[in-house]
Amino acid sequence: MRIRALTLDLDDTLWPVLPALERADRDLDAYLRQHFPDVARAWPIPAMRALRAEVAAERTDLAHDFTAQRYITMQRAFATCGIEQAPLDTLWEIYFSARNSVELFPDSLPALERITSHWPIASLTNGNADLDRIGIRSHFAHHVCARDTGVAKPDPRIFAAAAERLGMAPGDILHVGDDPELDVVGARDAGLRTAWINRAGHPWPGALGKAPDLDVRDMSALADWLEAQGE
Ligand SMILES: [Mg+2]
Repeated sequence: MRIRALTLDLDDTLWPVLPALERADRDLDAYLRQHFPDVARAWPIPAMRALRAEVAAERTDLAHDFTAQRYITMQRAFATCGIEQAPLDTLWEIYFSARNSVELFPDSLPALERITSHWPIASLTNGNADLDRIGIRSHFAHHVCARDTGVAKPDPRIFAAAAERLGMAPGDILHVGDDPELDVVGARDAGLRTAWINRAGHPWPGALGKAPDLDVRDMSALADWLEAQGE
């Protein structure tokens, strides 16, 4: 298999996302308690999460845009407390700063350094991670996200958009990610090669069809495999 470039998922592939999302919820809640106690009382963390899920279910037109979903959630929470002018930008900054305070898996950075010295990488995410804030922008030739593309993984169009940015045929690109459906099935349907970052060592879910081209435990194993293939 000749690989000329990679597209790489971010959340749960390079870092665990849940701790950052939980911290973001806690930081927002702390801000609300201090500055808008009525809103904090009406919308404790579980209620705020439920409201966000409600917004996501209602606004399927914004399925690719978690940022817009969060703005609407905040606006709605404040409106129910009689506040029409929610400090949306401040709230967003608190959330976004915590959301990007991620701790990379120990294998991620060394592997990225090995891989980027031989293959161009485009990040490919449905989320709103910010590579500059996380401090890893220099490892990526391109950044492709659902919000800018207008569609989310597993839609083949987002993979096609990434291939176009890389200037390569889908079949020359290896997509790497942790999610069997969003990453492996999505990329396979778009004609890319697929690598499943399977940190928990699960068996491939057979119901999803053909197994990925590569099933690896972490990013170091991916770098080992790529180097063994040669450029
Ligand atoms: Mg992921």
